Amino acid sequence: MTGHWCSGRPQPAGASITPVAGAVSAKRLRSSSSASPVELRGVTKRYPGQHEPAIGNLSLEVPAGEICVLVGPSGCGKTTALRLVNRMTELSGGDILIDGESIRARPAAELRRGIGYVIQHVGLFPHLTVGENIATVPKLLGWDRKRIAVRVEELLDLVSLGKEMRARYPAQLSGGQRQRVGVARALAADPPLMLMDEPFGAIDPINRERLQNQFLRLQSEIKKTILFVTHDIDEAIKMGDRVAVLQKGGKLAQYATPPELLMSPANEFVEDFVGADRALKRLSLLRVRDIELWKAPLVRVGEPTAAARTPGDADISHPLVVDDEGRPVGWLSERDLAGETVPATPRIAPDPILELDDVLRDALSDLLQSETQYAPVVDERGRVAGVLSIAIVSDFLASDDAAGLAIPPAERVGT
Ligand code: ADP
Ligand code: MG
Repeated sequence: MTGHWCSGRPQPAGASITPVAGAVSAKRLRSSSSASPVELRGVTKRYPGQHEPAIGNLSLEVPAGEICVLVGPSGCGKTTALRLVNRMTELSGGDILIDGESIRARPAAELRRGIGYVIQHVGLFPHLTVGENIATVPKLLGWDRKRIAVRVEELLDLVSLGKEMRARYPAQLSGGQRQRVGVARALAADPPLMLMDEPFGAIDPINRERLQNQFLRLQSEIKKTILFVTHDIDEAIKMGDRVAVLQKGGKLAQYATPPELLMSPANEFVEDFVGADRALKRLSLLRVRDIELWKAPLVRVGEPTAAARTPGDADISHPLVVDDEGRPVGWLSERDLAGETVPATPRIAPDPILELDDVLRDALSDLLQSETQYAPVVDERGRVAGVLSIAIVSDFLASDDAAGLAIPPAERVGT
């Protein structure tokens, strides 16, 4: 398996094709890379011969550079909504604005060239090589051969596919590799908007998670506006800056950020859809550093144990032994306390040791597996920053403090 898609490489704009290394170019290219806001205004779609509209009066605004996930049960109109945006299906009513301009203002074919489209089974042309597939839109746009060749190379690099992939045919690739070629092809002409319809739906769970993570890292560089369709609420919560939960008929049940959705589902439908474990799901959007930790009485190795008998303003009475650098070495037991000085190896190990950057859900899982109900948390230098307990996590979930907090999508790339 190849590494990250982006690996710190800049995403070049269509026009500037000279690859330049390092941070300067990354900055320049990022700012030159375009993204458009999208607005759905009272969008309605009636298919001929159907009683109810597939989508009835759907309004939605997606800010530039964000991932908006459309999620909902099968048949609720997600695919229809995407296909209305690039006019593969025509509106029955309402309007869609890209960058403030109606999609009807331009010929459909021209509109489509400015919108990347990725679907579940990729839809690569089987008789064309990877390179030719990626070059589809640039060719339509009349780019010269040299420019296309350079761009194809850049894109293969961007999605971490080796140069040797260029001459292969889709049938010679794995599912994950085909999906990346699909993304590269969609990005070829640097479109300000991407539509992605269950892009990772046909991939096995392990590679799917990998592709999600790689895509989030890629997005943190290219910052496109993305309409992303899935029926999987976990994928929606992971990938979305905002999530639109749709009900049958394209009815918007709720449009909110992932933490808002999990904190306050707007109605029973959303509540059922996000699942009974929504509290746990919220923990996957938070880090240990987001929560107020307990203070433990700290005692240093070699100190008189008497110092440990006066807990001061600590939240727990159990003293935590730290070395000269402030790193945890264990919990002081009653028997340790009976000695003169604080031992260098207390009887109770400090395990598990958590980190401020740990995702709260993983931290809780560690706590549940440990004998103690709490654990020391260390900073990036390994020094004690506080103590996390199951009680803190459960109080926190019950409070309003967690409402606005969430890890940005690009950083939700655990494992
Ligand atoms: P989703 O992607 O959420 O599963 P779709 O947008 O594919 O939902 O479909 C929404 C509704 O529109 C469904 O009832 C589906 O049967 C209907 N539908 C979709 N495409 C067509 C079509 N081309 N002709 C008639 N009905 C369609
Ligand atoms: Mg669909």
